[in-house]
Amino acid sequence: QVRVRFAPSPTGNLHVGGARTALFNYLFARSKGGKFVLRIEDTDLERSTKESEEAVLQDLSWLGLDWDEGPGVGGDYGPYRQSERNSLYKQYADKLLESGHVYRCFCSNEELEKMKEIAKLKQLPPVYTGKWATATDAEVQKELERGTPYTYRFRVPKDGSLKISDLIRGEVSWNLDTLGDFVIMRSNGQPVYNFCVTVDDATMAISHVIRAEEHLPNTLRQALIYKALGFSMPYFAHVSLILAPDRSKLSKRHGATSVGQFREMGYLPQAMVNYLALLGWGDGTENEFFTLKQLVEKFTIERVNKSGAIFDSTKLRWMNGQHLRAIPSNELTKLIGERWKSTGILTESKGPFVDEAIQLLKDGIDLVPDSDKALSNLLSYPLRDTLTSSEGKSIVEDNLSEVAAHLLAAYDGGELLAALEEGHAGWQKWVKGFGKTLKRKGKSLFMPLRVLLTGKLHGPDMGASILLIHKAGTHGIVSPRAE
Ligand code: GLU
Repeated sequence: QVRVRFAPSPTGNLHVGGARTALFNYLFARSKGGKFVLRIEDTDLERSTKESEEAVLQDLSWLGLDWDEGPGVGGDYGPYRQSERNSLYKQYADKLLESGHVYRCFCSNEELEKMKEIAKLKQLPPVYTGKWATATDAEVQKELERGTPYTYRFRVPKDGSLKISDLIRGEVSWNLDTLGDFVIMRSNGQPVYNFCVTVDDATMAISHVIRAEEHLPNTLRQALIYKALGFSMPYFAHVSLILAPDRSKLSKRHGATSVGQFREMGYLPQAMVNYLALLGWGDGTENEFFTLKQLVEKFTIERVNKSGAIFDSTKLRWMNGQHLRAIPSNELTKLIGERWKSTGILTESKGPFVDEAIQLLKDGIDLVPDSDKALSNLLSYPLRDTLTSSEGKSIVEDNLSEVAAHLLAAYDGGELLAALEEGHAGWQKWVKGFGKTLKRKGKSLFMPLRVLLTGKLHGPDMGASILLIHKAGTHGIVSPRAE
């Protein structure tokens, strides 16, 4: 059975890189009918916080990446926090001690420092060269009786190499001669990260380890521990880094990088998920729009690219617009209408005016919060104020005074308002007549009209805009502007 895990360290917010790793694990599990396990790697007690753990869980839930086992849902392989698994680590460490894969190392820090210095002088790799790898039982016993502190050190085979077949990167191999015996348990009894991960993955029956490329060096140590414990190795898949547009590693200086930041900016979870999936994956066609459900159907690990993926926030924004427009209109009305009401732009959150406004404006926005500006832009002034203001008029080369004078007369004489009361047909009829009187048509009619009526050169459909502005003025659903 396919069992994968996402194993965040709760030392900060969920970064887009972590979210993508979680997503690939989720998609792999769901596409294979397997299990998606969440494990909290909180062995670094100083840096791990409960708040950070909660924030990570919240972000994953927001993205829709529900886990089958882990904090909050339990499961047969728990506990799912490393800080609660210490006795297990101790048990396996002792097993390795018994089988001779691990030995007690009584070297003091000073001795270890000295070894490093000597290695440096001789330009050799900083590997452990102390005597405890070959100490006799009697020597060990003597130190134990003295109460000398010791670490558990893993005995690395002295030569040869180790290779794994990575599902994304292909064959990866390491020479063992530069690794040196490494510590798996500190003298205070704290197990070391790589050891915990291996024991956890093995005892949680993880079949595929899908994680970031930066963990590749850990894989060597972990693979050795797997072998020593006699566990069969999982498949590994190391996903490449997410890069900034300048191809450096994506970091805070490039702007928003955490899932929470994007949520606060108004991004939709479905757009985030879609965009993250495209960072290193594609279905092999031109199609870029996928719902989470479609991703589950299409995802295969073979299609994950091994080169670095560039995080392009402009594209993410565009993607959000695509998803925003795919939301069924009743849901969109709820999302945007309630926002307009709560931000005080409108006095009501639903009804025909809200529906019409959303239909009119949604093509011009990418994020839900952009709808505020779009609506207030459209309704910046009551109709007559726009007619008499000079806003935007200088942009049009055409001499507007003639059109302006006629338009004001039509407004003040009531014909324009009467036409608008009749809705779209009334407006169209009126425009036709107006053009005839002025002997203008096409661009030379519509450009001045748009500028005079909306104060802007560009915008959504003019007729619908005017009708909406008119309605806003007569129905009193627009909140009075604070001066
Ligand atoms: N806890 C590690 C991290 O947050 C992940 C380790 C792993 O996936 O093996 O980067």
